[in-house]
Order: sequence, then C-alpha cells, then structure tokens
Amino acid sequence: MNFLLSPETEFAVEAVREAALLVRRVQQEMVVGALAKDDKSPVTVADFSAQALVAQRLADRFPGAALMGEESAVALRTEAGRETLEQITRFVRTAIPTVAPEEICDWIDRGVQERRAITWALDPVDGTKGFLRREQYAVALAYIDADGVQIGVLGCPELEEARRPSPGGAGSLLLAVRGQGAWTQPLVGGGLWRQLRVSDIAHATDARLLRSVEKGHTDTGGIGRLVDTLGIAADPVPMDSQAKYAVLAAGGGDVLLRLLSPSRPDYRERIWDQAAGSIVVEEAGGRVSDLDGKPLDFSQGRALDGNRRVLATNGRLHEAILSGLKQIGA
Ligand code: AMP
Ligand code: MG
Repeated sequence: MNFLLSPETEFAVEAVREAALLVRRVQQEMVVGALAKDDKSPVTVADFSAQALVAQRLADRFPGAALMGEESAVALRTEAGRETLEQITRFVRTAIPTVAPEEICDWIDRGVQERRAITWALDPVDGTKGFLRREQYAVALAYIDADGVQIGVLGCPELEEARRPSPGGAGSLLLAVRGQGAWTQPLVGGGLWRQLRVSDIAHATDARLLRSVEKGHTDTGGIGRLVDTLGIAADPVPMDSQAKYAVLAAGGGDVLLRLLSPSRPDYRERIWDQAAGSIVVEEAGGRVSDLDGKPLDFSQGRALDGNRRVLATNGRLHEAILSGLKQIGA
C-alpha cells in the first residue's frame, strides 16, 4: 500500500500538529515555576489532554482503528484525580468545545488496548522532563502493520528546521512514509515540505553523538567509554525525547545511542518511544537497529522485547559504532 498522501498520512500529520499545539498551550499556561516546586501536574495535564484529543480524532476518522498510547485514565476516574480531570477538560475543550469529562476518560482508555496486528502507537508527550525544563520534547505518532512501522509523525515544538533548538519558535513537524522518504515543515502554519537527509559523516572520530539528558535513561559512563574507544572528538549532546531522531534525520547529529542505565537494568523500550522516530531516520537515509545490529521488532506488544536497546545512525557510521560497542562490552 502506498501511504503517501493516504488518508492515514493526512490524519497523522494533522492529529500530531493539533496535539502538539495543545501541549504547547498547556506548557505556556501551566509551566510557571513548576520545576522549582517539583510540580509534575503540567506534564500530566498535557499528556492526558493530547492522548484524549488524538484518540478522539482517530475514532472519528477511522472508527475501527486500534491505538496504543502511553497513558491510562484509571487515576483520573478516582476522587483524587478529579481536579486534574477538570484541568484536562478545560484544555481539550479548546479543541472540542462540548466534551464531557467522562468522555475524555473513555477516549484516553482507547489507548490501553492490547496489541493488534495493525495499530497506531502514540506518545502524547515524549520527553516529559524536557517539557518541564522548557527544552526538547515531542508528540510522536506511528502507524504499524505486520511489516513494521509504515508512517511516523513527530511534532517537535522546540526545534527549528528539525535540527536547531529554537525556544518558542514555529517548531517542526516531521513526516516519514515507508519507501517514500522523510520531510519536515513548520509546526505552526505548515507550508512547504522539505525533504530530510541524514549527514554524510563517514569517520567515527567526527561523529556528533546524541544521548538522553536523564542519567536514569542511559549509561553516561558507557557512552564515555565508547567516545574514548572510538576517539570521538566532540562531547555527546544531551537532548530529551525523539527530538534526537529528528535532529539525526535532518543531519544535525550523526549517532543516537540508547544504552541501559545501570540504575534501571530491567527497563524495556516502549514502542511509542521509538516507532515514529525510527522510521523518520530510516526514510532520511539512516539506519536503526539494536545494539546487536538487529532491526527493531515492533510486533512484540507494548515493548521492544525482541531487541537490546537502540542505535540509530546516519548509516555510514553504523558498523563502526556497533564494533565500538562490542569493544566496550555494551
Ligand atoms: P529520553 O528523552 O531519551 O530520556 O527518553 C525518554 C523516554 O525514555 C521516555 O518516554 C520514557 O518513557 C523512557 N524511559 C523511562 N524510563 C527509562 C529508562 N529507565 N531507560 C530508558 N528510557 C526510559
Ligand atoms: Mg516517551
């Protein structure tokens, strides 16, 4: 099936744009000194609001479609969740004026279905810490069938031209369709689609490596050993969320590495954290695998249980990084 200009592609682009702009509005109105107070409520409200909105738009457009999202509404249905649900309702009403709170819970819970052969995977706010720090975060939506990820869309409100941090700017929307390439356009206002192409850096010593900001999400010591082993000159660039995939696809970085944090040895990657980003990089000419060089297997359920972590590169550097990883025992 050719998904370019298909109803699915058109839906994914507009759903991510709408959700990303809603998330940004929550941030503008709620993230005021939230970090200082260690207040996670803005990200909770943003997460749930965006999942409700995308789930409703999906049900409206493709009534039988399956959705796997990060959030469930269990906590919102309790007395303790009532105030949060009221805030969510206020934001969702800016897009769907007549919605009732119970409907919002029902929409959110469309995302907790079991894995079906054909499914949409949604991360309503990927990079929640980045969202709270007003750094990078993303809305990520992917369409997955028996042959893998077919469509991926990333909304990156804090990136310009998919590669430069640009606080409060027009943001970037990225679209990839299997076999058809990857493109970007401004998140706000749309406009021309520009094709994305990974960098052509060929020597590991020149690699610009992208890694998680959060120490609990990666192994900074292991990354340091890899940098030393391969003689990589530049310091790794810390960045939250699938914005890393966007920057790699746009040629603003060359290697994206997800190692396991020694503090969280049992963590399994979730499909909504990698699906959209991985197809964006592949369709921009890059390569995505696990640390053994195996392609990511999105057929296993909610997690990538068949893979060991993630390596994404511009393609040219892939084998060199894999062999460096072997040398450090990663
Ligand atoms: P990053 O922005 O690279 O830090 O990755 C953010 C994503 O990592 C979030 O969507 C989380 O779901 C996911 N995550 C949560 N815990 C872990 C962990 N222990 N190791 C790796 N990723 C995690
Ligand atoms: Mg995430």
